[in-house]
Amino acid sequence: MEILSEVGDPNVAVVYIGKTSKGNIVEFVESIPTYNPQEKWVLIVSSLNGCPVGCKMCDAGFFYKGRLTVDELMEQIEYPITRRWNGKPKTRKFKVQFARMGEPSFNMAVIEAMRLLGERYDNLHPSLSTIAPIGTNKFFEALLELKKEMFPTNFQLQFSIHSTNPEQRDEIIPVRKWDFERIAEYGKAFYDEGGKKITLNFALARENEADAEVIAEYFPKEYFLIKITPLNPTVSVLKNKLTNDVDLETGLPMKHRKFVDDLRRLGYDVIISVGDTRENLIGSNCGQYILRFLKERPELREAYTFARGFEFKVS
Ligand code: SF4
Repeated sequence: MEILSEVGDPNVAVVYIGKTSKGNIVEFVESIPTYNPQEKWVLIVSSLNGCPVGCKMCDAGFFYKGRLTVDELMEQIEYPITRRWNGKPKTRKFKVQFARMGEPSFNMAVIEAMRLLGERYDNLHPSLSTIAPIGTNKFFEALLELKKEMFPTNFQLQFSIHSTNPEQRDEIIPVRKWDFERIAEYGKAFYDEGGKKITLNFALARENEADAEVIAEYFPKEYFLIKITPLNPTVSVLKNKLTNDVDLETGLPMKHRKFVDDLRRLGYDVIISVGDTRENLIGSNCGQYILRFLKERPELREAYTFARGFEFKVS
């Protein structure tokens, strides 16, 4: 891995832009959510070069050049490990999230990388975020098998849902994907007693429909929890005229307050995850992708300011 640039603050988050051994340009993130890397240390890696899905709010889905190999996945993990720890990560919770650029279920090498990581690091907490596209049965079967074998209680699986209205969900995530029944069925099989519940994530735009009754109809609270995140400031959010519904100061949804209240009343665990707003300025947050910003350089306040003076040629 040749590091072309790094953007951020090592006490909060750093985005690395690197050229892999195969010549692909990728972004990956090192994040310290509790400001104490000995307590929790998080790496967020890319699974593909670009992404063919093109979700409405995501800056990584504007091109697609193919899958990354297992070596290219591991390089994104090994570089920050060597740099910060010079050996194994001396942290209580070492989390690796397959959640930067690219839908991970399109790449079987992700399974192989997770297995290698589990063999190498006993403090590993793997995490994968997916939109659950159709045609990925082989990946999800292998993932289920790996989870049961190696990570029964510490695997975090997240389905990106965003809207409880299937038609709107199709607009936001414009590919064919599993319906709620299928997600629920897989999630229940994935869950292990004493392990993590399956996360249903809503990057909550004011425009999105969010109805707790729909959640209750498909997803039992014993297996699923709801995670609400702000709609982060991205080039795509700006272009598609979407509006974030989560107040970054209070951490509460504005238009969708009832959704949260109803979910809690129905007994669901609801996590509202706002994080450090400096991550928006760094460009390390979910849906952000610095190379997209550098390519288009739109008028975008409260985001990507760390990369603004950056002279990086984007083809
Ligand atoms: S959110 Fe994920 S699946 Fe959607 S375009 Fe971005 S990287 Fe691809």
